[in-house]
Amino acid sequence: MYYIGNHLPVANGYEVMAKMELELGGNTFAFFTRNPRGGRAKEIDIKDIQKFLKIIDENGFGRLVAHAPYTLNLCSDKEKTRNFSKEVLADDIKRMEYIPGNYYNFHPGSHTGQGTEKGIGIIADVLNEILSPGQTTIVLLETMAGKGTEIGRTFEEIKEIMDRVTLKDKLGVCLDTCHIWDGGYDIVNNLDGVINEFDRVIGLKNLYAIHFNDSKNECGSHKDRHERIGYGKIGAVALKRIALHPAFAGKPFILETPNDDKGYIHEIEMFKKWMEEKQ
Ligand code: FE
Ligand code: FE
Ligand code: ZN
Repeated sequence: MYYIGNHLPVANGYEVMAKMELELGGNTFAFFTRNPRGGRAKEIDIKDIQKFLKIIDENGFGRLVAHAPYTLNLCSDKEKTRNFSKEVLADDIKRMEYIPGNYYNFHPGSHTGQGTEKGIGIIADVLNEILSPGQTTIVLLETMAGKGTEIGRTFEEIKEIMDRVTLKDKLGVCLDTCHIWDGGYDIVNNLDGVINEFDRVIGLKNLYAIHFNDSKNECGSHKDRHERIGYGKIGAVALKRIALHPAFAGKPFILETPNDDKGYIHEIEMFKKWMEEKQ
């Protein structure tokens, strides 16, 4: 089984999102838990959730990959930002429990000059405060491009955060193809090497989801500008190889490509064609 979908625009309710994804041809999706710039989350509507759960059950959806707001920065040097981020993270995880057993992805953070070590320490401390043994949601650290003072560009940084977190079974990784490419991992010429490196440092068992993007820039550029599949520097050949790689089989693939609906329909179709060819 394979799971493909896209990051949906902020929508009114879960049922609407599931229906939107069905129309695009997908069987998983990502969504912002609240306005991507932060702010208040919508009230949970139990009726909406029930209708939504029915749709995803009937259509065999894979795990969803919710995305934290971009403004979240657990290890900012500003106390206000740190506190806001911690509150949002805790509240989002609670809200995720209304749709049990899915994933919640966030950018580890930017240390804003305090240094990587200090940043990693703060991120791990917050996770230890917030994660609870009873939760069904797996929280995912996203691999980053290394823009500015971003933490999580190297697999080692991700691993260091994970090592310091106690509830390890509540924590995992979301691999963003554009980000690791921009971060310096050559998935075009050395995919197996990069995957082996991921396995050696982080462990493939900790990989839960893929953000499936092409990149506007060269490997190692640290830019983080996503491109449509096949129109960027990673290219369709390499992205197809990634889609078909056994290390990623069965994981939700989420498109975060600059597209309109027509573009997403096309990319989802293309992905499905690749998977069917294989069988
Ligand atoms: Fe992201
Ligand atoms: Fe991403
Ligand atoms: Zn990105």
